[in-house]
Formats: sequence, C-alpha cells, structure tokens
Amino acid sequence: MPAEKVNFLPKNKILSYEELERLIRIFYEQGVRKIRFTGGEPFVRVDFIKFFEKISQEYPDISLHLTTNGTLTEKYIPKLEKLGLKSINISLDTLNKDKFSQITRRDEFEKVMSTIAAILKSKIRLKINAVIKQDINEDEIVSMVDYFKDFPLELRYIEHMPFDESPDHVLDWSGEKIIKKIQKKYKLKLIPREQNGTSQNFYLSEGSPEFRFGIIEGFTRSFCGSCNRIRLSAEGKLKTCLYADYKINLKHLIHEGLTDDELREKIYFTVTNRYETGKDAQLDRNRTTFESMSKIGG
Ligand code: SF4
Repeated sequence: MPAEKVNFLPKNKILSYEELERLIRIFYEQGVRKIRFTGGEPFVRVDFIKFFEKISQEYPDISLHLTTNGTLTEKYIPKLEKLGLKSINISLDTLNKDKFSQITRRDEFEKVMSTIAAILKSKIRLKINAVIKQDINEDEIVSMVDYFKDFPLELRYIEHMPFDESPDHVLDWSGEKIIKKIQKKYKLKLIPREQNGTSQNFYLSEGSPEFRFGIIEGFTRSFCGSCNRIRLSAEGKLKTCLYADYKINLKHLIHEGLTDDELREKIYFTVTNRYETGKDAQLDRNRTTFESMSKIGG
C-alpha cells in the first residue's frame, strides 16, 4: 500500500452489509461452505464484528477464516474465538522492526507481534504468511523458522508475485529454492496436500509438534488444478483466479435489479467458465499490470 494518499472508495461504491448478506446466502445455496474475509485489515470497516457475528450465527456450517495485517484485530480475538472463527492468516515478512516499517510503510511491528501472541493464546489456528524477496528478506528465510518453530502455528513462505510489475518478472526465490535453503538446517517431512489446499506443507524435525512449515507457489502456480477459490472484491467484482481480469460486478447487477435466480445464473456461468490455470488467466488479461494485493485481498 502507498504510505499516504490512499484513494479509499466512497461508501456507495462498496458492497453494503445487506448486499454482502444476500450474496453470502446465494453462494451458500450454491454449495460454498468456506469464507475468508480478507484485508489489509477487515476491521477497518465499521461494525465488521457485528457482521461477522451475524454470519457465524446464521451459517454455523460455514467455516469462517480471516486474513489480516494484524493491526486492528487483537481486541476482537476473544469474541472471534467464541464465534468459532477457524483460522487467521497474518502477513509478516520480517522480524526486524525497521525492515517491517520499510516493507509495509507503517510503524506497526509491535502491534502485529502482539496480535500474533494473542492468537496463540486462543484456539484459533494461526498462519503466518511471508513473501520472500531477494535483497529484502531472503536473509530471514531460516531465522524466521528458527524463531517460530517452537510455536503451534503454520509459517508459510509465498513466492513473490509481480502484481504491479512487468510480466517478464524473474522469480528469485522459488518454492523449491526456499525449501533447499531450509533443508540445509532442518529435516523436512512432506505432509500430503489438503484437498484444494494452496500450500505444500512440511513437519520439521524439531520444535513444536504442532509447527508446520509451508510453501505457496503463487508465481510458479503448481497447484491450479486443485484451486476452487472465488474472490469477491469490496466493490462486488468477482474473480475466479488471482491472475484473471474481473468478469462480473455483482454490485452493479444487484443495482440493475437482478433477482436471486438471475444472480445465481451469472455466478454459476462465471465460476464454471474459470481458467484451467493461472497462466492461462494471465495470458488472457487485457492489462499487463495487476491491482495491488491491498485491493484484491489475500
Ligand atoms: S487458479 Fe489462479 S488463484 Fe487458483 S491457484 Fe492458480 S493462479 Fe492461484
């Protein structure tokens, strides 16, 4: 995210809670049983906790998850735990406070670490995501494992995806290269990939038995065949792949007065016509630059 002058969307351009509830019901009726609310920080939105409570009570069989930068979540953790939140993903690319400020352009390292400590005291599963980039944090690939291996959490390294850069981007740190680096110090035991899972996970030869180390090959895109994700942006745009253009805007369709059945049909068509892989999606894009992840969500 830029350090300042972020152009936030006016309220009438983003999905209202009522519209979100309607869409969640339609997705639920079509079989969706897992929802992840993503940030930045989902709690920047006023009354998000009330909305979360409503959804958790109306759909007890939906598995609810959160992705956050960890800056405003901490005080809600006891409530989220009570409401049955299954997991929280936190972005943390470094354990160095100054580097953290440099990467995120915000001075909130302590706050994020405090959120991590609070999640560890709860029953909510914690996943820490770090994007590995040459000359930024590749020197911490092993030291972050050293630091977190004694805690019951998943530490996942994500290949750097060039969302705002050239399509000819060269990947410095592939998942394979990261694994090799860690294997110089630790023995890794592969865990069979979960159905539709995005990460390749490992047990470590030492540390907490509940610690897992994982790789998300977001650039190599080796797991597209099992990806069933659908992304709905704050504006109501639907995306079936991180690398694809948005295909429809559900907020616009709601405003045009479409019925639930008509919305269902549009969603069904979009989802059943998804790209086979993220590479196909990228080839078919109109633009070569991508929105920042702060707009797409995690
Ligand atoms: S299909 Fe797209 S979103 Fe899914 S794993 Fe592949 S690149 Fe990622």
